[in-house]
Amino acid sequence: MIDIPCPLCESREWVPVGVLQDRLLGIDGEFRMVRCLDCGLHYLNPQPTRAELVRYYPEEYDPFLVPAPHRLSPWQRQSLGYGLRKRCRAVTRYKEAGRLLEVGCATGLFLDAMRATGKWQVQGVDVSEPAVHQAREQFGLEVFQGTLQEARFPAASYDAVAMWDVLEHVPNPKETVREVCRVLKPDGVFVFRVPVLDGWDRRLFGPLWAGWDAPRHLTAFSRQTIDTLLSQAGLRVQRAACTAGSYHAVALGLRFWARGRLSTAGQKRVRRILEALPVRVATAPFFYLADRLGKSTLVTVVARPAGQGATTTRGNR
Ligand SMILES: [Zn+2]
Repeated sequence: MIDIPCPLCESREWVPVGVLQDRLLGIDGEFRMVRCLDCGLHYLNPQPTRAELVRYYPEEYDPFLVPAPHRLSPWQRQSLGYGLRKRCRAVTRYKEAGRLLEVGCATGLFLDAMRATGKWQVQGVDVSEPAVHQAREQFGLEVFQGTLQEARFPAASYDAVAMWDVLEHVPNPKETVREVCRVLKPDGVFVFRVPVLDGWDRRLFGPLWAGWDAPRHLTAFSRQTIDTLLSQAGLRVQRAACTAGSYHAVALGLRFWARGRLSTAGQKRVRRILEALPVRVATAPFFYLADRLGKSTLVTVVARPAGQGATTTRGNR
């Protein structure tokens, strides 16, 4: 663990906001979340090193697993496909075809879906050796194992760069976003999804909020700190909206809540209820409204190199 200055503005002035634990996988350890007094960024300080973080990314970590189709119910298969189609649309709405790079591609589900459109030449980067192996073997994808910076891709070579739920995991978000800007063509588009502190469920769940996910999430952004991060890297926000994953974030918060209060059987029941189709359908109008108001945890941001059409992440656009 190392004491670090603010990853966004380099200030060393901060206040603690809480001590967090690994709620998702239950691996031991306590992590202090602080808020920068100068720019408002929330980040873990002291920060676990890359070596210390290895054990918090075991092979059973969800994004590193390609779900075997025969183990999914028809409804789960539908739900997975729907989520992937939404992510594809988030890119193709702004760019119809070209070269795509996904940073943190895990096993390559999204890259495979984009390639299947027939309009995209796709490439990925991921730090996880088993995930990269699977992406190459199972999907035949071109994936670099390591960080984006280590890959040293040529400048201005991609029409789109995508990053799903990754920015909060990287130790140097500023450097990462600058590198995205460097590899992006001048008319390219950067599409990413990130949890933000502005959602209603953060207030409801407090330390059990799914968006904390300590110690894997090193940074907790807000719409305002995302604006600052992007503008420092020479990017401008074109659109920032809650479009996907809101239900999943709330369901995780409820599961963390149940863990401390219910028996194992009770927890299983909660999980079954949360995964049931009628529950999803009955709560859909509420989540739709929260998304439209821009008040959900996950925000999908579309950004372009500065100089093109710009706005901010504050409020849905
Ligand atoms: Zn700061």
